[in-house]
Amino acid sequence: MKADLLKSELGIETVQDMISIFPFRHVDKTTFIDIKDIGEEGQQVLLKVNLYSLVEVKGVKQRRLKGIAKDATGYIELVWFKGVSYVAKSLEVGKDYVVYGRVSKYKGKVTLAHPEMDLSDPDKAGRKVVLDPVYSSTEILNNRGIDTKVRRKIIKHIFSELPAHEITESFPQYLIEKLELIDKASALKWIHIPTSVEEANQAVKRLKFEEVFYLQMAILYSKKRRQVKIKGLIFSEIGKYFTSFYDNNLGFELTNAQKKVVREIRADLGKGIQMNRMLQGDVGSGKTIVALLSMLIALDNGFQACMMAPTEILAQQHYQSLQESLQGTGVQIGFLSGSVKGKARKTLLKYLKDGDLHILVGTHAVLEDPVEFKHLGLAVIDEQHRFGVAQRSRLWNKNEEEPPHILVMTATPIPRTLAMTVYGDLDISVIDELPPGRKEIKTVHRRESQRFKVIEFIRKEIQKGRQIYIVFPLIEESETLDLENLQEGFERLRDIFPPPEFQISVVHGRMKPVEKDLEMQRFVEQKTQIMVATTVIEVGVNVPNASVMIIENTERFGLSQLHQLRGRVGRGAEQSYCILMSGNKLTHEAKERIHTMVSTNDGFKIAEVDLRLRGPGELMGTKQSGVLSFQLASLIEDQAIVKAARAIALRILDHDEDLRNEINIPIRNHLKEYFAKHKDWGRIS
Ligand code: ADP
Ligand code: MG
Repeated sequence: MKADLLKSELGIETVQDMISIFPFRHVDKTTFIDIKDIGEEGQQVLLKVNLYSLVEVKGVKQRRLKGIAKDATGYIELVWFKGVSYVAKSLEVGKDYVVYGRVSKYKGKVTLAHPEMDLSDPDKAGRKVVLDPVYSSTEILNNRGIDTKVRRKIIKHIFSELPAHEITESFPQYLIEKLELIDKASALKWIHIPTSVEEANQAVKRLKFEEVFYLQMAILYSKKRRQVKIKGLIFSEIGKYFTSFYDNNLGFELTNAQKKVVREIRADLGKGIQMNRMLQGDVGSGKTIVALLSMLIALDNGFQACMMAPTEILAQQHYQSLQESLQGTGVQIGFLSGSVKGKARKTLLKYLKDGDLHILVGTHAVLEDPVEFKHLGLAVIDEQHRFGVAQRSRLWNKNEEEPPHILVMTATPIPRTLAMTVYGDLDISVIDELPPGRKEIKTVHRRESQRFKVIEFIRKEIQKGRQIYIVFPLIEESETLDLENLQEGFERLRDIFPPPEFQISVVHGRMKPVEKDLEMQRFVEQKTQIMVATTVIEVGVNVPNASVMIIENTERFGLSQLHQLRGRVGRGAEQSYCILMSGNKLTHEAKERIHTMVSTNDGFKIAEVDLRLRGPGELMGTKQSGVLSFQLASLIEDQAIVKAARAIALRILDHDEDLRNEINIPIRNHLKEYFAKHKDWGRIS
């Protein structure tokens, strides 16, 4: 029974599994306090008491067991609602106990509900009172009586029966010595049953390193395997497409950061190894042109290229701006999305298959099976965080003989170590410089009571010929309400800025793509002065004349989303502004987000705060499978450990690519197990 529950609830099947699930903390059972010093509700206390009385109380709904315990300084009530008979039998009035529990106050009375009770005489209890492990559990387990205490018993039993030599060491001896780690058997024992704080710390240190190390090892090992197994297309030529574009069409000088990244990509493409590179660059840093130059290299070598964007609007905009940039170069470029249908679609797909089309720009539609290239050489994915990892791998199948090179771009910068972990085998390039002449966007926080001033400000900017974005939040769960909110906002604005003098565009996710595009286009062509929108405009849209971004209900947006939205302005020569509107009541976190936005324009700084506030899982937008959920390590706080582990793993693989060396056999064996256990591994790499 218990075994079944452990399996279904926690996936525990074997003894090995049982001891591989670590306690998430330990309670200090060395510091006792007096009953008179018990303070706040929720406080965890350890008491030495005498059990003074114990009675069963039959309440209206349920039985409970009530005890009174005392020490030299006072009395305290103990209460149990569950397992009443069992607990009653296990306790004896008049005996001394060590009691551990959480303080609750009921009608002013201090109570411990379901405290842990141990006979305080260490000989009878069979152990010294020290640090006790606390395991995370599930409600079902707790209700069936498999709580932390029972888990402790099982664990203790296991260790009393299990000889240390049956626990396989996962590190080679030389590593253990060099890193001054304790051995695996001790680490497992000490994390579950430490006899001192020092032991618990040593155990955590060793096991944490192991977690981090094997993830890095798995990433780097897979990457090496893949590089050996898969031949990358070799683009050795820099030909007429690239050079003629660079000389005649570019229209501006690349920033040094852009040049550096183009060089990195060129080097990748010539190596004979399949490129898997992530390009990070703040909004407006000029990633698109880097993508275009890379695609031209593919063309120069007789291959096709494609570029995918997460939304119809963004894909359209890429298509249009690429088409403009490429005028006179002879490059044939096409657009594909769900809205391209019928004959147009058929013709497009035929051109693509025949190789008459050089570049295909589009949405997810590009990934669909009927879309066949003649010879796809490079795939660019814009705003990578909006796509699932699975979608990236589907691109691979688009070139049957050899997978295309892949360049993913993102404006959500994340710290390097984290990126390397989360995005598995991606190499990273960073554009850390904005094109010259950009003015810093001025950002302010305004409350509802200041709306009048904001409106006057909008009026002045419009009089100067500028355009304004006003963004409303929209989340799926409250979509209808949010749309009403947007509609109201729009109507309010129309009353304040009435036609025909003023024109307002509206764009939101419920509109048909055609309508959206029409509205967007009116704004781009400056036929409207105000764009009321939901976050559909968040990614990539480029209207240099728009100089004011107003965000409504700012408190409802995430930090990186706010930064993305702000990036829609500040693209022209004019001074730009971002106004964050909010209500008066703000949570602490919302205040911190707003404060961060007001105080910096630096995407990396913002990403760091965001990471701290939300944690890495959220940041990636998708649940990244169990691979990334460590038991002990934190991808944020333990970045130094990640770095060290990665460096060591790299060095080992540099000397012993296949892990065939005698001294690395423990690593090879453990890695094999690791891959077997994490079957979903392929999804992150
Ligand atoms: P993002 O990195 O956010 O995708 P874009 O590629 O859309 O940024 O570039 C933003 C704007 O900056 C575009 O209008 C682009 O033409 C312009 N731009 C890009 N690189 C440069 C440069 N080196 N000098 C001047 N303008 C540039
Ligand atoms: Mg972009």
